[in-house]
Amino acid sequence: MTSARLHPARLGTVAAVVLALAAAAIGVPGATRPAAAKTVKGCAAPRSAVIMQVPATYRKNVALTFDDGPSAFTPMILEVLQREGIKATFFVTGKAVKAHPELAKAIVADGHVIGNHSYSHPQDVAGSVPRIAFTRMSRAAQESQLDRTNAEIRRATGRLPCFFRGPGGSHQGATTRTVAANRGMSVVHWTQSSGDWAKGAKTESKAKQRDIIRRATTPLRAHALVLFHDGKASAEPERRVSSNRINTVRALPSVIKFYKARGYVFTDPAGRRLARG
Ligand SMILES: [Zn+2]
Repeated sequence: MTSARLHPARLGTVAAVVLALAAAAIGVPGATRPAAAKTVKGCAAPRSAVIMQVPATYRKNVALTFDDGPSAFTPMILEVLQREGIKATFFVTGKAVKAHPELAKAIVADGHVIGNHSYSHPQDVAGSVPRIAFTRMSRAAQESQLDRTNAEIRRATGRLPCFFRGPGGSHQGATTRTVAANRGMSVVHWTQSSGDWAKGAKTESKAKQRDIIRRATTPLRAHALVLFHDGKASAEPERRVSSNRINTVRALPSVIKFYKARGYVFTDPAGRRLARG
């Protein structure tokens, strides 16, 4: 059968089928680019690229971020932030929010930003379930991790997050960015890791606190995105990743004072100024 014999209406149907087949042939991600992503109320339009540093919305700005909570250390972090009059962003896991909905609620009640950090923090490390880098998981599995977490966040706080950060920083893949953007979320990396998660942090240590302060402030960047942890979500053993965040709590005031003294504006990862407390 040639197209010349087709009724014009059928031609349109055939063309649509051919286009759909062509789209499938070049890959599904192309059909769901971030351009078609929805925007969650109150969120900036999701970015198609990973936010590696905060946008230069001010001459100097910094976004403080806390991953892997909420945990028993979260209230201590909240207390420091309140004392300093600073707002920050918390990348929570769905599992931790389910266990501590009241802490997720406290984060939002204090005026902080809440972000999605997956449900169970899958990583390619022994003991992780599943044991696989996040961006290598199937699209459906990634969607499930994000959706279950958003459901817990919404249940606890009434909010939907604007930001996603992959477990262990595993979020550079195109599928991960698309899955996040389709849910109105931008993917967020960091410019400086405070290293607060690393071994040797089992007890209160001045040396560890100095190390956290140094890593959180050097090299000095005009548009900094700083990574801390207010909990532990990794399945790695305690000798490698401690669940004790007391050194983060103790180091935080000095990090905040450092950026305050240099005239930094504290923003969310999209560069939007966060109101002072
Ligand atoms: Zn994490």
